[in-house]
Amino acid sequence: MNHTETNNFLRVDYHIHTILCNHAKSSMEAYIKKAVSMGFQEICFLDHLTLTEPGHKLSMTPEEVPLYFNAVQTLKWRYNGVINIKAGLEIDFNPFYVDLFQEISESYAFDVIGSSLHFPGGIDVVSRKSGWSRGERDSDYIYGIYLESLEKMLDYSYFDILCHLDLLKKFGGNPSRSFENEFDCIIEKTGRKKLAVEINTSGYIYPAKEAFPSFDIIKKCFKAGVEITIGSDAHDPESIGQHYDAVLPLILRAGYKQISVFTKRKRSGLLILEGSGNEGF
Ligand SMILES: [Zn+2]
Ligand SMILES: [Zn+2]
Repeated sequence: MNHTETNNFLRVDYHIHTILCNHAKSSMEAYIKKAVSMGFQEICFLDHLTLTEPGHKLSMTPEEVPLYFNAVQTLKWRYNGVINIKAGLEIDFNPFYVDLFQEISESYAFDVIGSSLHFPGGIDVVSRKSGWSRGERDSDYIYGIYLESLEKMLDYSYFDILCHLDLLKKFGGNPSRSFENEFDCIIEKTGRKKLAVEINTSGYIYPAKEAFPSFDIIKKCFKAGVEITIGSDAHDPESIGQHYDAVLPLILRAGYKQISVFTKRKRSGLLILEGSGNEGF
């Protein structure tokens, strides 16, 4: 794919963090400027709301949600006409806090809510410092508990996007069997609930060396009628749009022609290849 052709493709990044989560760098405006410089048409801040991890140090607190929401609104208007800026949350699923998640997602005019699992059964599967990343956990057990929790998460409806579906491969740690049936079940349920699956490009920078989810899962999502978004999971401005050009051909090969974008929780589709007209769905 040459440079001219690449310029014809839609560029959106639906997973960007902020310093409010205590493990991301720079100002929100630095992320926006980077996205503008890279020719992105639309970005979405999707910062962490995690109430699972002890001490809540890797997330904004529920009390900080209004501050975060208002900061995105200010920037949305400041950059009006330059780039579309959307406000979202990446909520860490925890069955004990679902009522609070529902309340928060309904109290503010967020454009989109993502849901993910970083601490299934209270076990950290996301940090480099975790026992999971060092290969000290039983892979079959972790896959079992993760997929069971993910399935349970799909019983709720406080969210629109399922983030980094097969996150467990981040550090390697392969299970002794494929867990394909469990993944198929999740894909089927996601389609039935009309949720979107996020193609998270941060997987390329970890031992997984591919997007979350895998090409196999992306193909199955397409067959199941599951819509997709794309997100870099940027925790610093330099990571905006990371490996975007690596996933586009895969998404197209899987059969997708559109990427989902959201306005006040309402989904619409934008054609990946620009210039052939956009269609809603
Ligand atoms: Zn994070
Ligand atoms: Zn995440």
